[in-house]
Amino acid sequence: MLDKKHRLNIADEQLDGCTLCGNLCGTDRRAGGISICGAGPTAEVSHVEIHHGEEPPLSGTNGCGNIFFHNCSLSCVYCQNWQISIEDAVAKQSYTASQLADEMLRLQEAGVHTLGLVAPTSHIPTLVPALYRARGMGLYIPVVYNSGGFDTVSGLRLLDGLIDIYLPDMKYGTDEVAQVYSGVVDYVATNRLAVEEMLRQVGPLTLDREGIARRGLLIRHLILPGGMADTIDVISWIARYMPREVPLSLMSQYAPKYQAAEGFFPEIERKLTQGEYDYYLAVADELGLTNIYSQDLESALVYAPDFTREHPFETR
Ligand code: SF4
Repeated sequence: MLDKKHRLNIADEQLDGCTLCGNLCGTDRRAGGISICGAGPTAEVSHVEIHHGEEPPLSGTNGCGNIFFHNCSLSCVYCQNWQISIEDAVAKQSYTASQLADEMLRLQEAGVHTLGLVAPTSHIPTLVPALYRARGMGLYIPVVYNSGGFDTVSGLRLLDGLIDIYLPDMKYGTDEVAQVYSGVVDYVATNRLAVEEMLRQVGPLTLDREGIARRGLLIRHLILPGGMADTIDVISWIARYMPREVPLSLMSQYAPKYQAAEGFFPEIERKLTQGEYDYYLAVADELGLTNIYSQDLESALVYAPDFTREHPFETR
């Protein structure tokens, strides 16, 4: 494992030529280069909220304190957070490492069970010093790295020992659909290597006696209508290469949003049916994946945030 001094240096050097995500664009972010994700030299935060809609071991009764970052490295045409992760529908704020550490401690003081870093990949250069600082100032709750799973192994190694829980998406089973729906190449290999590295660092998810997550890997997969995410390939890979103890959150909450609601992708311009969801649950079970978090289909309503409202996740 890297020592603190080297880790801080290497994280900071990413600003001179960034390779933190699978886009590997190499942008000199410090010099004002235009990166694919739009990230510059400082972390940009779009929203901070205590969220009760994560998987039960993450939210518990007190919620997960989520910090939503701007500059996602994926451009998903159906992104439910598109107002803040891709477009500038609400004002974003630049954070220094010390401001980010203060925000983490504020959320902990509010009583949340876990601290969630949402779409954090491009902001690792600020997150590494922020996490060291926050830990030094008393941050003790588990830190959750909630990413689209398009992280490079070299980027993730900068977080080894600083992150308690990895919550990556495994969005697609083939590169073709990743290119069409998220605008990236080489998603599948990048994603699988990232998940293997996450497992190496933290192992499968473990819970405390109250059922709250303490440490480990929890994989998410959002099922697209018509099997368009190549879900069978994703589930089959997990069944073959991940230990049985690693839970899979099989999400049914898809609803057409952003560009997917504008007629450009008619094949995914509908919600999932109960029959489709039951089919994929049965496939997972048949492949031996019994550690599954499932959802009600109505969750499409609950998890459709509107970030122009004061409380984006409250249903009207
Ligand atoms: S995180 Fe952003 S700047 Fe870094 S490689 Fe990916 S797209 Fe480029």
